Amino acid sequence: MTTQPTASHFINGAYVEDTSGTEIPVIFPATGEVIATVYSATPAIIDQALEAAKAAQKAWAKMTGTERGRILRRAADMIRDRNHELSVLETYDTGKPLQETLVADATSGADALEYFGGLAATLTGEHIPMGEDWVYTVREALGVCVGIGAWNYPTQIACWKGAPALACGNAMIFKPSETTPLCALKVAEILHEAGLPAGLYNVVQGLGDVGASLVNDPRVDKVSLTGSVPTGKKVYAAAASGMKHVTMELGGKSPLIIFDDADIENAVGGAINGNFYSSGQVCSNGTRVFVHKNIKEAFLKRLSERLEGAVLGNPLDEAVNFGPMVSERQMGIVLEYIAKGKAEGARLVAGGERVDMEGFFVAPTVFADVTDEMTIAQEEIFGPVMAVLDFDDDDDVIARANATEFGLSAGVFTRDLTRAHRVIGALEAGSCFINSYNDAPVEAPFGGVKASGVGRENSKEAIQHYSQVKSVYVRMGDVEAAF
Ligand code: NDP
Repeated sequence: MTTQPTASHFINGAYVEDTSGTEIPVIFPATGEVIATVYSATPAIIDQALEAAKAAQKAWAKMTGTERGRILRRAADMIRDRNHELSVLETYDTGKPLQETLVADATSGADALEYFGGLAATLTGEHIPMGEDWVYTVREALGVCVGIGAWNYPTQIACWKGAPALACGNAMIFKPSETTPLCALKVAEILHEAGLPAGLYNVVQGLGDVGASLVNDPRVDKVSLTGSVPTGKKVYAAAASGMKHVTMELGGKSPLIIFDDADIENAVGGAINGNFYSSGQVCSNGTRVFVHKNIKEAFLKRLSERLEGAVLGNPLDEAVNFGPMVSERQMGIVLEYIAKGKAEGARLVAGGERVDMEGFFVAPTVFADVTDEMTIAQEEIFGPVMAVLDFDDDDDVIARANATEFGLSAGVFTRDLTRAHRVIGALEAGSCFINSYNDAPVEAPFGGVKASGVGRENSKEAIQHYSQVKSVYVRMGDVEAAF
């Protein structure tokens, strides 16, 4: 397959090139090879995308939900039919193992298109009787939405933002991370092959400055960002100055609490999924693993044994289950955190270094005896680094778990379901798990509290964030007035 896209941008139903923008090399993280080149959007390209979206949106919103939904569901089927090809592209874009991308990326995007395609026809208002008079409400589209993506799930993020936006009658301009620019172009291409009218799903490439131009443009009504907290604060502030709607899906440093009555095998499995899937580059990861003192050594022993099952190598080989970091830069960031963990006195149980092979591989790393003040317990690392902390008191662990600016996810492993619900109820997090970790079905709301974000993606909740309500008072009698 060729990884070089037809052109850098997809605007008004067609690929568009403009080589006067800054060149962006696309690098395969498993080898460091340049596998494609795209160009950052110039002001003229950004303007073209905004004009196309603005021109197409109103007619799209006037179509029935059934008609809009049919197109989204057709795109979902096409994505499933082409899952293998799209998964290979996702692996080239991100370096994630094909074993993972075959089941977690295009398929998750297809789920979103199918789900919101199905919901599109159900978006209705209310009738509110007021005696003889009444009020009715209409759920209306917002207009032009901008989606800005992170690099860890480029296909999924393009669909998670595009599907609800389009279902509600909006147009979308999506800017992928410059690290992973390839997959969103395929999503745009497939949506249009499925019958989406031109101009409704546009992709423009670029760095943060392109995202910022879009966010600041008065033609834009809504911004949905998946990214880090510092970027989220900037984008939220820029959107606020134009009074735009926002969804912010930001970072986390989520707690995973393992009680001494937990099934250790399942708890270890949850901790592996919550720290090493996608080589740890998952926002909702449970990277602060609080393990009850009574089972700490048993937990660490079993975890170390199971880590031997990590197969590193060419992520296109389906036997490989652990890939490289997305970029050399991200690898550098992760290695710095590992160095801090060692320097601040955490006990290294596994990994702890770059792997001596081609590509940006960092070994799955586990630190034990981590304390709350250590940098690796406080900051989001976004790599395969698990911090294991001890506890022996329920209330104390809840307080420590909540002592962070983040609030994306939280997990609890225990056989005592009363305790599970009590602890989850007390944790400050948006997406939580009991005896599991990191499940993200489209049916469930996804998003954070505190600095981890605003709004929710997926589920019926997302509809609130891509539409607005008009209310209409209807008077049946005469109008009374003071004079
Ligand atoms: P960044 O915050 O660096 O970037 C996110 C996106 O925003 C990129 O497309 C980036 O462009 C763009 N951007 C940067 N600056 C601006 C700006 N001033 N205005 C508009 N857009 C801008 O995040 P990463 O790409 O490094 O992704 C990792 C982060 O994403 C982690 O913190 C992680 O937790 C979070 N994340 C959150 C998820 C969630 O759903 N809660 C899911 C996945 C990741 P460019 O990259 O081209 O500079």
